[in-house]
Amino acid sequence: MPDWPIHLIVPLLALLIVSRKENLKYVFLLLPLALLPDFDTFAVQHRALFHNIFIPLILALFGLLSRKYRAIFLIASVYIASHVLLDMFAGGVVLFYPIYNGMAFVDASLMMSQTNNLLWTFDYGFRPYAAGWKTAYGYISDSTGTGAMVFVLTACVCVAYRRWREV
Ligand SMILES: [Zn+2]
Repeated sequence: MPDWPIHLIVPLLALLIVSRKENLKYVFLLLPLALLPDFDTFAVQHRALFHNIFIPLILALFGLLSRKYRAIFLIASVYIASHVLLDMFAGGVVLFYPIYNGMAFVDASLMMSQTNNLLWTFDYGFRPYAAGWKTAYGYISDSTGTGAMVFVLTACVCVAYRRWREV
């Protein structure tokens, strides 16, 4: 699975780029939602129960229907959708759970081989939802991820501090 730092940093940066200034507080407050899907591992339906397309779609729909809470629902939708998308690029997710049990996956990687050759992989489709996916076994944060998170979160603290001083 992608580490939690990737799940946090990627949508956070995307939302910081596109969000209006008045919605920045929701971008920070809703950040934990980027990790929420992985808690389906405790329901023994990891990569299925909360890793599907329907939860972000419903949130986005609420966002489009509600004028008052639009930003909140849309930001929540982006956080959940980005998690599902990133996991799709890292093994797969049961995208149409509970309607269809296949794991939608995209494999897109570039590797350097031991003989100094570039190895490009690109594949996509559905694979069976194997038992091995049913727990979120693996790193929660590897060492690179922890370093990346410290770097980006330090930048966020600096921004927050500067904005607080400006008020
Ligand atoms: Zn996940």
